[in-house]
Amino acid sequence: MDNRKISKVIGKIKRAGSHWKMPAVIHIGQGKDPFRVLVSCILSLRTRDEVTAVASKRLFALADTPQKLLSMVSREQILSHSPLTCAQEPLIARGRYSQLPLRRGVEARRKNAERNHKTLHDVSNLPLAGASARRGGVEKAIYPVAFYRKKAQTLVDICRKLIAHYGAKVPDTLDELLKLKGVGRKTANLTLILGYGKMGICVDTHVHRISNRWGYVKTPSPDATEMALRKKLPKKYWMQYNDLLVSFGQNICKPISPLCSQCCVSDYCEKIGVGDKHR
Ligand code: SF4
Repeated sequence: MDNRKISKVIGKIKRAGSHWKMPAVIHIGQGKDPFRVLVSCILSLRTRDEVTAVASKRLFALADTPQKLLSMVSREQILSHSPLTCAQEPLIARGRYSQLPLRRGVEARRKNAERNHKTLHDVSNLPLAGASARRGGVEKAIYPVAFYRKKAQTLVDICRKLIAHYGAKVPDTLDELLKLKGVGRKTANLTLILGYGKMGICVDTHVHRISNRWGYVKTPSPDATEMALRKKLPKKYWMQYNDLLVSFGQNICKPISPLCSQCCVSDYCEKIGVGDKHR
């Protein structure tokens, strides 16, 4: 398939897909909030779309900023590394100091504060044990997305880095996004496109599979497909390519048994690797 055909193919899919259900992350991306796009994209990995949508909604109702998400993590862990503040005193009083006589308790708290030399603002730099996220509410909020325990910890790590290094903002370049734990090229590109309206090509399993079935690229992996598309696909299609092909892949060009008999671009498709598994 060449670029003259790809223009026609994209036009046909646009027209045919006007009634297809929008993928959850694309829907969330309409709010143009980079943090929400980044988080929902991480939740969506290896997770069904309906589950991603519900889990994202539940999490964002509780925490739609890095600070709020970190506040869901166990306060015990934070307090054990922080000096005392007026706001914390009642909490501490019910904790490990509550068994001490009053004067010894005050002295212990003063020494603890001196030892740590940290303020609440330093919380983002504190080492949090892996278990802390699990004790917090993040896991509960995102359950049952796939690997919810690991993803909860990834979100906590990302939020801490955003606060510590990026002023609690999601970075707006591919290179900086890729420095965040758990963020690969797909997530980074989608965050740029949907969150910031910047140029990028997001290649997931649908985009990789369909571009190869069409014979538009011949690549062994999604990353290789992204590089091939960056060289070949006209820039005017970059930002919409993922959106269109994900919907097309969920509704027509399915992974196992594509609906070739109902496909609006069948005349243009080389059906590479499809064999007789189509319907
Ligand atoms: S003809 Fe079949 S393999 Fe080709 S794009 Fe359509 S559904 Fe996919």
